[in-house]
Amino acid sequence: MRGFVRNRSGSVWIEVEGEGRSLDHFLHAIERHPPPLAQIDRLSWNVLPACGDRQFHIEVSEADAGPIFIGPDVATCDACLGELFDPSNRRYRYPFLNCTHCGPRLTIICGAPYDRPRTTMAGFALCPACQAEYDDPRDRRFHAQPTACAACGPSLELRDSAGAAIAAADPLAVFAKALGEGKIGALKGLGGFHLACLADDSGAVAELRKRKHRDEKPFAIMVRDLAAAERLCVVDGDEKSLLQSRRRPIVLLRRRASAAIAEGVAPGNPYLGVMLPYTPLHHLLFEACPRPLVMTSGNRSDEPIAFENEDALQRLGGIADLFLLHNRPIHVRCDDSVTRQLDGAELPLRRSRGYAPQPIALPFECPRPILAVGGQLKATFALGRGRHALVSHHLGDLDQYEAYRAFERDVTLYEKLFQTEPAVVAHDLHPDYASTRYAERRVAEHGDVILRGMRIARLPVQHHHAHMASAMVEHGLMDPVIGVVFDGAGFGSDGAIWGGEFLTGDCRNFTRAAHLRYVGQPGGDQAAREPWRMALAHARAAGAAVPTLEARIDPAAWRVVAQIVDRRLRTPPTSSMGRLFDAVAALAGVRDRVTYEGQAAIELEWLAEGVPPDEEYPFEILQEGSSDALQIDARPLIAAVVKDAGASVTAARIARRFHDAIAKMIVAVCERIRNQMGLHQVVLSGGVFHNVLLTRETKAGLETAGFRVYRHRLVPPGDGGLSLGQLAVAAAGLS
Ligand code: ZN
Ligand code: ZN
Ligand code: FE
Repeated sequence: MRGFVRNRSGSVWIEVEGEGRSLDHFLHAIERHPPPLAQIDRLSWNVLPACGDRQFHIEVSEADAGPIFIGPDVATCDACLGELFDPSNRRYRYPFLNCTHCGPRLTIICGAPYDRPRTTMAGFALCPACQAEYDDPRDRRFHAQPTACAACGPSLELRDSAGAAIAAADPLAVFAKALGEGKIGALKGLGGFHLACLADDSGAVAELRKRKHRDEKPFAIMVRDLAAAERLCVVDGDEKSLLQSRRRPIVLLRRRASAAIAEGVAPGNPYLGVMLPYTPLHHLLFEACPRPLVMTSGNRSDEPIAFENEDALQRLGGIADLFLLHNRPIHVRCDDSVTRQLDGAELPLRRSRGYAPQPIALPFECPRPILAVGGQLKATFALGRGRHALVSHHLGDLDQYEAYRAFERDVTLYEKLFQTEPAVVAHDLHPDYASTRYAERRVAEHGDVILRGMRIARLPVQHHHAHMASAMVEHGLMDPVIGVVFDGAGFGSDGAIWGGEFLTGDCRNFTRAAHLRYVGQPGGDQAAREPWRMALAHARAAGAAVPTLEARIDPAAWRVVAQIVDRRLRTPPTSSMGRLFDAVAALAGVRDRVTYEGQAAIELEWLAEGVPPDEEYPFEILQEGSSDALQIDARPLIAAVVKDAGASVTAARIARRFHDAIAKMIVAVCERIRNQMGLHQVVLSGGVFHNVLLTRETKAGLETAGFRVYRHRLVPPGDGGLSLGQLAVAAAGLS
């Protein structure tokens, strides 16, 4: 085939000439066997007169070539892995080899369009051998922007805990040996630093927890290969492909009883978060130290992950005994993604490295470019343009100053990379989210700027409407649905804390059809850290005495909380399902305080999983007051839980009956809504639907009742998916 290819207005334009049969073959091959990283949204063609091209070449992109998509970072490909361990290859054991099919992308990009001078590889001039490959269309490294070799590319460096350089001929070997002896190491990866230690050495793991100030939140581990993962966990076919996919996420897998892993890695947890090596450096590390390694984000407790050498040395100096650094700067901090497999499809928990900024197809056109700034915790933002949404990497909790700074900087970077000037900024209704304040400031500063004849507009979106819309977009749903949206907290249209919501509507509008009946949330946010507070509030609402719980709590604290509940002081009304899980966890004696977000609900799920269903607790569905919304009354359920707990029913049994009660209640409420409105499609969203048992039971119950049920597969059900939903609401409002 002869002709050329170039970027043109956000698409790839190819002109080829040749015999008719080979042209057919060419089209077929492009469609069926695209290059490994290609994602073809649409393919169209037409016939042009032949112009007698003599060869095939790549033309330089036009300056106004339009928006160009930038790919996520990609795990080392098989061809590169072959070279890495081939003594005759010139890149033998070179920790930074990559090619057109693999290597860093988003994390090294500083500007658009994507070519080497606008990446953090700019400082590394290609040696003649690398340049020849880069220029050769037949080479795997043709136009591979981050390509490098030992002669011209980045290199490793070893430092001690005080940041002083340690001379070593082979820094990696010294680092691996130290890990093997039980030391804690910090190593620079693709999107940030990891803290690493032997996962099967309980002393090392305990020391890491102590130094990192991390109580019980599980650590992720990295193992050498699939066989090593299978020795520790039960891995089914879908999970195997997920583990080995080029995205290389952390996959939650059911651990084997025999798994040789220190208990401190994931205390009490029936699952392990496992990932496989995804950079050449990781592969070399496991060659030298083949045992499973804890690979947790390089930070202290909940701070954002460190990604710059000097910052890492300073912040992790008190944690790591040894640093393995390199001199390829990371421009975009990007955490590991976390996901799991559920009944044949992914259920994403954190969408970041390897996934972002892969475009998500929209079922409609964005009439004008949109920026959706997301929520506050587990934050992401999204840019919408045409029929695509670009959902950012995970930015962490925006109440952390560092995370907020990264948010601001990365919004600007994405706008530059994807050449998008938003005309609308969508944000949460919550007035105190840092993202809301950003949206307000931005529109206030630029609101008077007339952008192509239009002012920048600001659009507040209710939290649970955004959750519902995010699930709708994933499945291309345009017609009205029932949205079952359960989470911990979101600002309601009436100023209350919502979180146990049945909404009806589409991306444009919603109605609150039903919700958990309000109870007071004593002390506001503090109740999320101390489930016993919600247990007290719910028990008092239900008129149930809870002497066993009271006996476990400091009497003075108990008295104060009982008082503020009774007098409704500092107890904002809430319909939160997350807080109901907390209350039941405390009433069942599972947990009175949490050390990380959602811990009580997660533990309740683990307990329930181990027990077969028998009966379930009662709910009452009320229609009362002036409100049209159905009220779901949890008082009968709370009374039954208290009774069971008093009668020494096991916590696991209580947890199971509770899960089954929620699933049954969802079906009952959806049936009432269907009777009134004729809706039969249900989307499940909100952080509570990270709960696999509840998702499964609910889906099965609804399907038996004749509903079509949709759950998340592309973005997390929790607040990591909010930005996509806000974007959808804004786009629907504009069109
Ligand atoms: Zn490769
Ligand atoms: Zn080179
Ligand atoms: Fe939420």
